[in-house]
Amino acid sequence: MMRTANYHIHTHYSPCASREMRLSDILDAAENAGYERIGIADHCYSFDLNSKRIKELRAEVEEAAADRDIEVCLGIEAYIMRHRLGSITHQIAGLFDFVLVAPNHYHIRGVTQPSRLHPRIMAEHELYMFEAAISNPITDVVAHPFVLSPRIFRVAPDRLARLSLDMMDELDEKRLVEALERARLREIAVEINPKFLMFDQGHIGSFYRLCLEHGVRLSFGSDAHDLDSIAPSDETAAFIKSLDLTEDQIWHPLGFD
Ligand SMILES: [Zn+2]
Ligand SMILES: [Zn+2]
Repeated sequence: MMRTANYHIHTHYSPCASREMRLSDILDAAENAGYERIGIADHCYSFDLNSKRIKELRAEVEEAAADRDIEVCLGIEAYIMRHRLGSITHQIAGLFDFVLVAPNHYHIRGVTQPSRLHPRIMAEHELYMFEAAISNPITDVVAHPFVLSPRIFRVAPDRLARLSLDMMDELDEKRLVEALERARLREIAVEINPKFLMFDQGHIGSFYRLCLEHGVRLSFGSDAHDLDSIAPSDETAAFIKSLDLTEDQIWHPLGFD
């Protein structure tokens, strides 16, 4: 069911995305994957964030989406630097259809770092950043919370997968549940990001289930940086199917319900 929307696709404007990520090719791939609606979400440092540039971008997206059977919304991927400090202002955020907020973009200068790669310290830090994302007025969807990327941490994937498992065990459950309750009240969604499977962190699936238990909506975002990653893998599709989601458990941008 969730296969019909994908709200995290990077275009060639994101410096880390493949040059093949042109809008028309993205839309071809997304139509082939069977999506009814997608969200473009480039990193907030991909272009000048001023109203003129964003208007141009919106025009570009609208032109590409004209005469297509697929709806396209314009989002952006911002990030948390620390509590009460996001990477974009709420004025800029308001110019997009939605804002993904990454709590763990540790490779970016100015983002508060965990002091050590230790499960308890990581658990404390990731939770702090998750709470910060939920408290920030710009956030619509928290992008890839608790998913640890080997590229960012520069440690072997199997070591990181083990650290991630231990980290999830160390999470302060009471605080996590309080954060989820706040997310529900503020109608902030949590992103299911297929990287948790790719990075062998399948245990994070239980976190997505906890979100649902506490009434937090989920949003699927493939975090595609190349055309092949736009459609969900079989493994991702099977995981989403296993959640048995109802329509009201799935997040959509305001005005696109
Ligand atoms: Zn990227
Ligand atoms: Zn990200």
